[in-house]
Amino acid sequence: MIKQGRYLKYGGQYVPEVLIEELDRVAETYNNIKDTDEFKNEFNDLLNNYANRPSLFYYAKSMTEDLGGAKIYLKREDLNHTGAHKINNVIGQALLAKKMGKKRLIAETGAGQHGVATATIAALFGMECDIYMGQEDTERQKLNVFRIELLGGRVHPVTSGSKVLKDAINAALQEFAANPNEVFYVMGSATGPHPYPTMVKDFQSVISVESKKQIKEIENKLPDKVVACVGGGSNAIGSFADYISEKNVDLIGVEAAGKGVNTNLTAGTIEKGTIGVFHGMKSLFLQNKLGQINPVYSISAGLDYPGVGPEHAYLNDINRAQYVGITDDEAVEAFNYIAKKEGIIAAIESCHAIAYVKKIAPKMNKNQTIICTLSGRGDKDVAAIAKYKGVDVDE
Ligand SMILES: *Cc1c(COP(=O)(O)O)cnc(C)c1O
Repeated sequence: MIKQGRYLKYGGQYVPEVLIEELDRVAETYNNIKDTDEFKNEFNDLLNNYANRPSLFYYAKSMTEDLGGAKIYLKREDLNHTGAHKINNVIGQALLAKKMGKKRLIAETGAGQHGVATATIAALFGMECDIYMGQEDTERQKLNVFRIELLGGRVHPVTSGSKVLKDAINAALQEFAANPNEVFYVMGSATGPHPYPTMVKDFQSVISVESKKQIKEIENKLPDKVVACVGGGSNAIGSFADYISEKNVDLIGVEAAGKGVNTNLTAGTIEKGTIGVFHGMKSLFLQNKLGQINPVYSISAGLDYPGVGPEHAYLNDINRAQYVGITDDEAVEAFNYIAKKEGIIAAIESCHAIAYVKKIAPKMNKNQTIICTLSGRGDKDVAAIAKYKGVDVDE
């Protein structure tokens, strides 16, 4: 664990003083237990027997043949319980909360995926659960609000600011600061104050630890490129983690360009962002000259975040990873493509990564390989894609 949670100029712990003490307690407890057999066994047992790991490592033969270049492998996080990679991280943080004697989990959610994952594990552990969600999002994602309630969670619509994800994070941080000893804040991405970016990376690194083993078994070598979509960056940092020290493996994070990175309707944080402080961390943000956070836009609710985890900003600075943008149109095209070619309805977030794979695979040769993380399944996106095409599927 990086001691002060610093990734050169990024990271840190920019929170009100009342929270520092509790964050230090979280970091210290985590440091003390993370390498113990007891914690590792409990974590792995839940990953394997509850979340359905290891996730499949699938050779996308039809895509590979159609694109005519590199071999494409998909890391199938969409097949996890609750339908995305988020559960890996929630299991880790909830176990830590349990070790700290906490009985109530709180979390933010945008589209509802992280809220559902948190309410799921709270139910499993018999803990209370409060989910903060921008009011706009509670209206756009009614089904997930109902799911959270079905699991025993309480949803708190947030009416401040622009009533979206960034405001939900503010509200959750406020609740954490108000009751630091009682609640555990389950952060949904590799973002926020130290120790969250490090912990979330550790919990999500199971993705690359597995994929490295899986590709070595099939190909007897490491991949040439690893591609993953980036919102706050948790599935991407987990997909990269075990390859960061393997200098011959190219790491590529795909951001949501929305209507284009040169428009205001974008979420291309690394491409267009500037350094600042928000949500407890120093990182890159889409903001105005005075440091006020800009509204962001993407067709994909999961990538619609104005910042990015500090380690991605750092990996970009040192040129260890490359970050690119994919527009709404390109992502929707990839959503259709992978459904028709592979019979997989993938999350629109993940389809940003697929769209980039479609661009680069044909330019690579046939004995090269790409691993692309399918971060989630796309059932949740079907209605939005239909609407995008001008079809109304609501009854
Ligand atoms: C939440 C989510 C994302 C974006 O979050 P990261 O922290 O960047 O991984 C991507 N894909 C899916 C399916 C999600 O639910």
